[in-house]
Amino acid sequence: MATGSGSLMWFRKGLRIHDNPALERASGASSFLYPVFVIDPRYMAPDRRAFSPGSSLAGLNRIRFLLESLSDLDSSLRKLGSRLLVLKGDPGEVLVRCLKEWNINKLCFEYDTEPYYQSLDEKLKSFASSAGIETFSPVSHTLFNPADIIEKNGGRPPLSYQSFVKLAGKPLWESSTLNLSISSLPPIGDVGSMEISEVPTIIELGYSDSELNVLQVDETPFRGGESEALKRLKEFLPNKAWVANFEKPKGDPSAFDKPDTTVLSPYLKFGCLSSGYFYQCLNDVYRDVKKHTQPPVSLLGQLLWRDFFYTVAFGTPNFDRMKGNRICKQIPWDERDELLAAWREARTGYPWIDAIMVQLKKWGWMHHLARHCVACFLTRGDLFVHWEKGRDVFERLLIDSDWAINNGNWLWLSCSSFFYQYNRIYSPISFGKKYDPNGNYIRHFLPVLKDMPKEYIYEPWTAPLSVQTKAKCIIGRDYPKTVVGHDSASKECRRKMGEAYALNQRLNGSVSEQDLKNLR
Ligand code: FAD
Repeated sequence: MATGSGSLMWFRKGLRIHDNPALERASGASSFLYPVFVIDPRYMAPDRRAFSPGSSLAGLNRIRFLLESLSDLDSSLRKLGSRLLVLKGDPGEVLVRCLKEWNINKLCFEYDTEPYYQSLDEKLKSFASSAGIETFSPVSHTLFNPADIIEKNGGRPPLSYQSFVKLAGKPLWESSTLNLSISSLPPIGDVGSMEISEVPTIIELGYSDSELNVLQVDETPFRGGESEALKRLKEFLPNKAWVANFEKPKGDPSAFDKPDTTVLSPYLKFGCLSSGYFYQCLNDVYRDVKKHTQPPVSLLGQLLWRDFFYTVAFGTPNFDRMKGNRICKQIPWDERDELLAAWREARTGYPWIDAIMVQLKKWGWMHHLARHCVACFLTRGDLFVHWEKGRDVFERLLIDSDWAINNGNWLWLSCSSFFYQYNRIYSPISFGKKYDPNGNYIRHFLPVLKDMPKEYIYEPWTAPLSVQTKAKCIIGRDYPKTVVGHDSASKECRRKMGEAYALNQRLNGSVSEQDLKNLR
């Protein structure tokens, strides 16, 4: 057991040195500092029942992104005279053992609004308090403290972006320079009998060669870590005109060689990049450029969307499900697993939709509008499958998978909450064609269609057999027939949404299971 004052810094998100108040506090006035990451097998160990390699909760691309982020953090800690201590097991149990064994008197970790961490943190804080250990858990993942905004709004989260922005005011968290205030860290104390390892490789996590082979084919081009995040940020910030003119939802969802947005989402998700620092960098650009776009469409406005969803998610019980969620319309979604499987496995027969789903599987990232298209197609646009099912697929495969943002956007796209114009459906044919008439995006992610002439690439089933033969892609053999006809399916979806909306209005939200069955 170490003597003197010991601090434990528990990293979960917030995988960075810059702008990290928990790490700053942990390193101040301590004789020893234990920087810890706990590998939770639930999140990282292989689950061979899953439909693609990875754990039950995360696809292999995201697990690798996380390992890369941990290695980068470890090497930054080493430069400061410390290192990352990696432990394995149920985080709650492992941390209590560390606290007992290492004579810790200060426990620091970033505040997290996700229900999983809320309940874990409660238990840990209660143990710490009974053991006389000080805990410090600052809000540093978001720009604002969701609890403050909810309090300002009379105890309920604001349900529109505009009201959120009005309440939000100035962020908590706004550093004008890259805050690297830590120049060295206290030494690590005696680790006693705790089993400590280096950051593991994927193989050390138990993944097999065949799973790794799949990963080599389906490899995301985005590498994890704080260094990568800062590099990425520095690459586009000098392009002030681009930053100033950024305007969502303009932008090309089919741009894949050079995506039309920042691709900072996975770095923000794991906290490799501080949202406060990003926010300030954008403000610096806006100060230098006379004319720039404004929220909600500006780049800074995108960061506010992130905080908006964090706030609503934090203040809404059962935010991640339809039942018991007071802001979610009750809709009698169909239970058609074969349609879900076709969507998930990129077999809908609509090349635009299937190419996006392949990008999801291979890269774990797609443009925002591409996400719109596939989410709308699965739910209220064509297949009428429950948004929770699509959310699960995204949650597992996205490298930026984020509990609040993912659920919030699925609620939005399925017209279950926030957005209610269910008559506005994305066409799986003409929407992509507008941006990419030659179908380069489809050719890249669905090589089976690479020789299909451009006039048929979005609707290959309309190509004469001679054209299909020449393109070496016979529909129904080399590429699937469409699972539904868009015109009739979308018409039927509109009808069902109309009925469900009327029922929700009539019963003022208190729709029962039986009411939903009656609509099916
Ligand atoms: P940029 O346009 O460069 O925006 C900068 C940052 O702003 C993003 O990195 C992100 O942190 C934030 N942001 C942008 N758009 C949104 C938005 N609509 N809502 C909240 N924050 C936003 N984003 C995630 O980070 N994780 C998810 O799990 C996720 N799931 C989604 C599911 C669906 C069905 C949809 C339609 C969108 C989802 N998004 C999610 C939101 C959005 O698509 C991504 O944040 C964005 O495409 C990431 O790319 P970027 O970093 O280049 O974004």
